Amino acid sequence: QKELLKVTDLKQYFPIKGGILGRTVNHVKAVDGVSFTVYEGETLSIVGESGCGKSTTGRAILRLDEPTSGEVEFDGKNLLAYNKKEMNKIRKNMQIIFQDPYASINPRHTVRQILTEAMEIQNSVPKNERNDRVIELMETVGLGPHQADRLPHEFSGGQRQRIGIARALSVDPQLIIADEAVSALDVSIQAQVINLLKKLQREFKLTYLFISHDLGVVRHISDRIIVMYLGKIVEIADKKSLFENTMHPYTTALLSAIPSTDVEKKKERIILKGDVPSPIDPPKGCRFHTRCPFATDLCRTETPELRTADGMLEGHMAACHYMEDIKAGKHQPTTV
Ligand code: SF4
Ligand code: MG
Repeated sequence: QKELLKVTDLKQYFPIKGGILGRTVNHVKAVDGVSFTVYEGETLSIVGESGCGKSTTGRAILRLDEPTSGEVEFDGKNLLAYNKKEMNKIRKNMQIIFQDPYASINPRHTVRQILTEAMEIQNSVPKNERNDRVIELMETVGLGPHQADRLPHEFSGGQRQRIGIARALSVDPQLIIADEAVSALDVSIQAQVINLLKKLQREFKLTYLFISHDLGVVRHISDRIIVMYLGKIVEIADKKSLFENTMHPYTTALLSAIPSTDVEKKKERIILKGDVPSPIDPPKGCRFHTRCPFATDLCRTETPELRTADGMLEGHMAACHYMEDIKAGKHQPTTV
């Protein structure tokens, strides 16, 4: 499989200014050393609670915010070495879709204008072909061509997201980053948009980086899944392994929160208590230790590395000191 996107040790620290001199007094460590690869044609999802750094990761990849450090390779090219002009050019190949398409489109522009805009900027479609292309794009995402001259507010949330998808497709990208793209929609509409995304993936050989807080949604679209907690990856696996051979207690906790999964039948449920700690001074050792029922002194001092233990398939990694023992029932909860 071809590596389309390769992220290595990505960090995104946002400075916090303070004092009368407005000096940097601390940092929000939103993303703190994240590495993964997205293969061509797959859907890799990133899940986690709000504040875990998943959106920040997406934005840093596209350099919508300049990352603090790390490497981002797209199609073999080092994106962080690009200047603004080169970066704008490559953005044609990497599009992003947001949760609220209304926020990212001009409310006074018709669908036709919205879809033509990116073609103009990228100069990707000859002028005299742009109208045909608009109609084609609308049909591709399930909208009628007669709707081309309507304004965004005349559409439902689901239809607006279809416009957002059509806009992303208008420049013929390789990679689409979908950041909570269906999170604001009703469940039935969510399913329709996910089915559309899957259909488009097959049709146009698209690669998706699908960001969501909802493991239930992610389950329907992913080939592989990354679970993030407080700026770090705690587990990465193909979908089947993640659901059937869950290794990290935080992943178990996320699974416990979605109704009607096999986890319910097993007794290993973890109900999360409290909030995600602040990313300004994240807990020492394992960042999950303040909420993990299995935590010990070791967890509070030593940071667990991502690794593959016995019984885990190749490519499945998790970061927990006790994952084998928890699995085998040899390490019991230390708190109730
Ligand atoms: Fe829980 Fe310790 Fe594993 Fe972290 S390393 S997930 S605190 S058992
Ligand atoms: Mg987010």
